[in-house]
Amino acid sequence: MPMVSKEAIRFCRDLGCEVIQIGADSIKKVENFKEISKQDLKDFEKVYLHGPGKNLDNLNSADKKKLLNIYEEIYQRIGFDYLLFHPGRSIMRKNFFKGYTFPIAVENMDWRNKFGINVADMRKILASGNFKMVLDLNHAYTHNKDLKLAKDFHDNFKEKIVYYHASDFGGNYQTDHVPFFKFKHDEILKAMPDLDLPIILEVILENKEEAGRELEYVRKVISLPVGRQGHKQRYGSSRLK
Ligand SMILES: [Zn+2]
Repeated sequence: MPMVSKEAIRFCRDLGCEVIQIGADSIKKVENFKEISKQDLKDFEKVYLHGPGKNLDNLNSADKKKLLNIYEEIYQRIGFDYLLFHPGRSIMRKNFFKGYTFPIAVENMDWRNKFGINVADMRKILASGNFKMVLDLNHAYTHNKDLKLAKDFHDNFKEKIVYYHASDFGGNYQTDHVPFFKFKHDEILKAMPDLDLPIILEVILENKEEAGRELEYVRKVISLPVGRQGHKQRYGSSRLK
């Protein structure tokens, strides 16, 4: 199933997701947004786009411009709540987003990265533009398994964090965004500091059936602790193989 398609959006909706994140990290992918209309997304409370990672810095300036122009076109035409970027040189450049009106968020990075990984880095990044933050719990977990880093991010950027990325971590590069129902590191889910924020399950799945199983598993784990019931949970997922 193509990641950017009416079919994928319908699949997430029928699964019961209330929020959605759609991959938009390359020119090829964003061009597929042509077939998506506002109507296709009307059932979601929040719509997020996942922009480019480190590859953004490797694009030439004409391609960067082209990408930003398409994001703006998508924002004007169908709207979205945040466009997510990975930390990098380009987004921190003064005037990089000048003239664009779409809202931007930046996420913390995992152990393979040298920048965008701790509170000091994220403070620098968030101060460089009008950015919100996405707290990626998997990425935080790869640095320290007691999830102190996730708590530190929350304590420092409480007002800036707009949603979570959650996925289990298999322990190596090949299995870096795996489903919770298979690996069962429930502590990652239980470390979520604010259960009122939307959660995007950034999980690579083998097939459609696994999506339902994952959602059910996560719902069970998070609603367990006393005092946490009654929160309106919002889940979304956009990553199907
Ligand atoms: Zn993420």
